Amino acid sequence: MDEFGIIARYFAPLATAPGSLALTDDAAVIPARPGCDLVVTMDQIAEETDFFKHDPPDAVARKALRVNLSDLAAKGAKPEYYLLALSLPQGMTEDWLASFASGLRADQEAFGISLLGGDTSATEGPLAIAVTAFGFVPKGRMVKRKGARPGDAVFVTGTIGDSAGGLAIFRRERHALTEEQRDYLVNRYREPLPPVLFGARHLRDFATASVDISDGLIADLGHLAKTSGVAIAIDAMAIPRSDALRAFWGEDAAAIVRAATAGDDYQIVFTADPACEGGILAAAADSRISVTRIGQVEPGEGVALVHQGRPLDVGRPGYRHF
Ligand code: ADP
Ligand code: MG
Repeated sequence: MDEFGIIARYFAPLATAPGSLALTDDAAVIPARPGCDLVVTMDQIAEETDFFKHDPPDAVARKALRVNLSDLAAKGAKPEYYLLALSLPQGMTEDWLASFASGLRADQEAFGISLLGGDTSATEGPLAIAVTAFGFVPKGRMVKRKGARPGDAVFVTGTIGDSAGGLAIFRRERHALTEEQRDYLVNRYREPLPPVLFGARHLRDFATASVDISDGLIADLGHLAKTSGVAIAIDAMAIPRSDALRAFWGEDAAAIVRAATAGDDYQIVFTADPACEGGILAAAADSRISVTRIGQVEPGEGVALVHQGRPLDVGRPGYRHF
């Protein structure tokens, strides 16, 4: 099947927005929406770097979308559209494409988004999937990395380090986990759970600054601290970790550092006036996620991970590609 066949068969059915023109034109149209800003983000995932050859294609599709949805969530935007660029190695099967498209469809339905267009090409290299996602916020209300103020508290969604635990299992790190715990961690690596509803519906009511966690909690908080011109102190013991990850890596400081620097979480970390805590927890419950208060913003610079009154030596604060 050539690229036009692939597009017509697998992707055109996902292009449900009128502006996509059913993928029959050179470009798509996003109607301007008075009173709103359009928020745009792009993230790419590649085989062997962000997923494995043996991963189910529908999970790969979901990961490609969700690593972008976490960025929109962190900006307080409601996701609506995406563009999809596929670099396909020779020999991709129809079965693979059908499963991949079914994963896209499932997440389109789960998150209320639709495909606007994209590009399909062959590559000599590994499979790579680039998504550009579009969301809307009320005009001027995108939540930025800049804006944290000394006195603000720091909050994080979900649990931290699960995806890194799943990756460690794939890399054959020894463990004594139940099958359920193992599956939980592996699934968090394959399919992140960004707080899309919380981001779209509630975040901008509270957050003074926000960032999604892709490289590692400490590394990404470092970006927020730097852009905001503040220091951040995190209480190591307060960082939310799942029972499965605790069972895997234990409870000591080294386990916390590992979880906080590993990345691939696709949760969001944000700052807000501590007086908002009650409202934030109620909003989290409304969105069926957890939010945990983990630290505070101070004058100065840098991120400290504090354990028993002392800053821990975190070494490398997060994942680096180069
Ligand atoms: P061009 O020749 O301008 O590159 P294409 O032939 O690549 O155009 O694309 C034709 C149509 O199919 C366009 O509407 C494009 O957005 C869409 N398209 C191509 N690849 C994909 C894809 N992987 N996912 C979604 N839409 C795609
Ligand atoms: Mg093209």
